[in-house]
Amino acid sequence: MPVIAIIGAQWGDEGKGKIVDMLAETANVVARFSGGDNAGHTVVNPAGEFKLHLVPAGIFYPQCRCLIGHGVVVNPESLLGEIAYLSERGVDTRNLFVSDRAHVVMPYHIMQDRLEEQARQNSAIGTTHKGIGPAYADKAARVGIRVGDLLDEDLLRSRLTMALALKNQLLTQVHKASGIDLEQVFEQSLEWGKKLSRHVADTSVMIQESVERDEMVLLEGAQGVMLDLDVGTYPYVTSSHPTAAGACLGVGLPPTRLQHVLAIFKAYTTRVGGGPMPTELLDEIGDLICERGNEYGATTGRRRRCGWFDAVAARYSMRVNGFTGAALTRLDILDAMRTVKVCAAYKLDGKIIESVPGDLARLAECQPVYEEMPGWETPTSDVRRFEDLPEAAQRYVLRLSELIGCTINLVSVGASRSETIIVKSLV
Ligand code: GDP
Repeated sequence: MPVIAIIGAQWGDEGKGKIVDMLAETANVVARFSGGDNAGHTVVNPAGEFKLHLVPAGIFYPQCRCLIGHGVVVNPESLLGEIAYLSERGVDTRNLFVSDRAHVVMPYHIMQDRLEEQARQNSAIGTTHKGIGPAYADKAARVGIRVGDLLDEDLLRSRLTMALALKNQLLTQVHKASGIDLEQVFEQSLEWGKKLSRHVADTSVMIQESVERDEMVLLEGAQGVMLDLDVGTYPYVTSSHPTAAGACLGVGLPPTRLQHVLAIFKAYTTRVGGGPMPTELLDEIGDLICERGNEYGATTGRRRRCGWFDAVAARYSMRVNGFTGAALTRLDILDAMRTVKVCAAYKLDGKIIESVPGDLARLAECQPVYEEMPGWETPTSDVRRFEDLPEAAQRYVLRLSELIGCTINLVSVGASRSETIIVKSLV
């Protein structure tokens, strides 16, 4: 049975939740590998509509073990809230496990996130203020608190004492904010530990054993490749690795165990927060995509920036991830367009370029070179076979596949599981 990594191939919000929910039907394990509760999946299934932030989208299937890997940073308050929300709606969460090695988003990370964004003024990154960046920074600085620490009183006290000695200086002396009381955070953290203890496990062993048993394993990403800390549009990026390489790292599986890397592309482009976006549409077409697509963040409610499909970024994404297949989502949002455009190349200093410049100022200067194609102006949500799509829609999908350099296996034409066209089976 395969191990499949499911990767947001653009700037996030591609509709990964729906695809994971669909594929999880036959999976034994779904493991989330990066990000924190700054991400948000919306899943629509026969039990209703669910907004998930930390819990993997396999949670709706009783046979599926859902793991939150050590590449994720966990806000315990938010995880407990999500468990309660799912339980209230009749979803069994006994199969949910969180890595003892995952780092904890502490209350001071959230304070730090807000204060740092304020201090950046006009260069703010546009973070979700959830403390994710500071939690990853502390992980790298080796002053982080891990989920396993919450279960060990002595270890917790010593780790918190060390962390707060630094944090309080930063909060009070640099940001002129009030400091954090050790006892208060200690008590709160112990409480979190008690409430979460039944879910805490060595998830890397669980997943490795599952792979050895030849079970089907899905690795669920959050955000998207262009927001990766290393390969994304730095500094307007997230602090983790939403890539295929990050998937292995974030759950503790060797890269050689990955059989499939499935890209999730939206049929157009959206982006939240700052940073260059060559195909952004600041006109009525952008507004139309936004309104038809209800392009507002599941976590923040912020309006997403909308534009045409950027095949230059998509090819780059393909190269850094080695996708073995792709799902194209939200094709139906383009149903109303008279014409559709695809950015096939960029123009920079009068020259055509086909790669994404690493220098953000240069990327901001790139002008999209569009291919314009006729739209289909026909609803597609009821279509279930590729050959039943309007010809113009088929041509659009095939052209994207050509430009990305990757087979499109699935086309999604609506939010629910059934609103999906299987063009070519995945495995
Ligand atoms: P994710 O974080 O990548 O899972 O993406 P989001 O949950 O932020 O956004 C995807 C949204 O699109 C969710 O509300 C989904 O229910 C919805 N969705 C997924 N696929 C489709 C599709 O093909 N068409 C439409 N109209 N909605 C979709």
